[in-house]
Amino acid sequence: MPENALSEWIFRIVYLTGIVAEIVIRAPINRRRHKSKVVVSRFDRQEGLLLLLLFFGGYFMPLLYIFTPWLDFADYVLPTWAGWPGVFFLVAAVVLFWRSHIDLGTNWSPTLELHENHTLVTRGVYRYIRHPMYASQWLWTVAQALLLQNWIAGVGGIVCFALFYFSRVAREEQLMLERFGDEYRNYMNRTGRILPHRS
Ligand code: SAH
Repeated sequence: MPENALSEWIFRIVYLTGIVAEIVIRAPINRRRHKSKVVVSRFDRQEGLLLLLLFFGGYFMPLLYIFTPWLDFADYVLPTWAGWPGVFFLVAAVVLFWRSHIDLGTNWSPTLELHENHTLVTRGVYRYIRHPMYASQWLWTVAQALLLQNWIAGVGGIVCFALFYFSRVAREEQLMLERFGDEYRNYMNRTGRILPHRS
C-alpha cells in the first residue's frame, strides 16, 4: 500500500474512533437524563432540521465517504502530514466533549429543553465558557476537514455545524435567560461563548 493510502486509512480510523468515543461518553448521561421530567421544550421544525443537519454533516457524509467511493470525486489533497494536526484537534475535541458532559451532567439534552431539576452550571469548564460542547464541536469540524480530505465529507461538516451553531446558540441563551434571569445575565458577563473572556 502506498504511504498516502496508508495514512488516509489511519486518519479515517481515527475519525471513526472519535465517533465511538463520543457515543460512549454520552451514553450514560443520555440514560440518566430520561429519568428527569422535561418541563419546557422548544423543539420545533427548525430544531429538528438543525439536528438532522448535524447528523448529516458529522456522521452520514463521513461514513459514506469512509465506506464507499461515491464521494471521491470531491477529494482534495493536502500534504500527508496535515492529517496529524487533525488527530490533535480530534483528541482535543473529545477531551473537551468529555469534560463538558461531566460538568453539565443530566442538564444536557440534544434539543432545547429544561428539566424538572434543571440547575445552572457555572463550574468546571463552564466557568470559562458558556458553550464548551459547541467549542468541542468546532474543534471537531477542523479535525474533520484535515482527517477526511473531501469537500463534502470534510469541509461539509464545518458548513453544517456553522449553520447549526449560529441558529441555535442565541435561542439557547434566550431560554437560559428566561429560566435563570439575572443569574444567567451575570454569568454571560463573566464568560465568552466558546472562548474565555480576556479580562
Ligand atoms: N450549549 C452548551 C450545552 C449544550 S446541551 C454547551 O455547548 O456546552 C443543550 C442544553 O443545555 C440546553 O437545552 C440547555 O437547557 C442546557 N444548558 C445550556 N447551558 C447550560 C448551563 N450553563 N447550565 C445548565 N444547562 C445548560
